[in-house]
Amino acid sequence: MPGEFALIERIRARAGRRDDVVLGIGDDAALLAPPPGHELAVSCDTLVAGVHFPDDTAPADIGHKALAVNLSDLAAMAAAPAWGTLALTLPDANQAWLDDFLDGFLALADEHGLALVGGDTTRGPMAITVNVFGLVPAGQALRRDGARPGEDIWVTGTIGDAAGGLAQWRARGPASAKLRHRLDRPTPRVQAGLALRGLASAGIDLSDGLAADLGHVLAASGVGARIELGRLPASRTLADHFDEPRRWALQAGGGDDYELCFTAPASRAFEIEQAMAALDLPATVVGRVVAGAGLRFDTPEGEAWTPPADGYQHFSGGHA
Ligand code: ADP
Ligand code: MG
Repeated sequence: MPGEFALIERIRARAGRRDDVVLGIGDDAALLAPPPGHELAVSCDTLVAGVHFPDDTAPADIGHKALAVNLSDLAAMAAAPAWGTLALTLPDANQAWLDDFLDGFLALADEHGLALVGGDTTRGPMAITVNVFGLVPAGQALRRDGARPGEDIWVTGTIGDAAGGLAQWRARGPASAKLRHRLDRPTPRVQAGLALRGLASAGIDLSDGLAADLGHVLAASGVGARIELGRLPASRTLADHFDEPRRWALQAGGGDDYELCFTAPASRAFEIEQAMAALDLPATVVGRVVAGAGLRFDTPEGEAWTPPADGYQHFSGGHA
């Protein structure tokens, strides 16, 4: 597009550096030097305007979220972020928009030591595709297929806030800025993922909601689960704005929290608590893995509960 090179130059001037980047933005491809003994964790996610974020989302928030959802995938694999690429499709070569976008994107990249090493810039309806590359010592990645019957199921932080923020935005009624912030500015649990190496047996990040995402772990591991709704960690704000069972629907069926859900043998519970306390990130046991198939939610009274189908699922779904 006209102005493409001016935009790329603005990006290049601000992109972070790493010693293992032999050649970054500016050639036909980046040259990267992965350390010996590591596996490369590679993930890609696209955000489309009006689909993956509300149209009124600030450019800096879009930049943050575009990278955060990708870092969250690395966190879920227990991989350390290293490099990223950015494919930007923009309706016009708007430099002010780009500068704001980069404020959000690069602040998060710097926070996690990720270097932006390349990308592509084209004209069209706004879409942002990010690729991330992370490093994990060979054999130590946290996969979806390691959950075993009897293990605890944990989630980090609190869940349901982002879906609550989205539900309020859609209803066009009273809205909590805190809930909306969780939707716009998810915190990828990168340090938690790294701390879970050798402790957790399986893990996933919560992009599409607990029911859907835990379902992927159960399917990959060939096991079932029971979750106690009364144990699902809710923020004070979520509890103030949504009563049960609406809150449960948001927590079990709503996406976009980008917390981690993982399984571990009960014998590891103390070490996990210590590790999470050191990160100042609460983690909560919400249920357990069982033999067989299926995911059952129990109310505090012990009755089976099904998340409503009309649900609070992500309004686009699918960028796990
Ligand atoms: P080519 O035509 O060879 O693909 P481009 O003109 O698309 O080259 O890109 C020139 C350089 O700028 C490449 O190194 C590319 O990776 C980088 N680049 C292009 N767009 C972006 C972007 N949005 N973010 C980061 N780097 C980019
Ligand atoms: Mg290109």
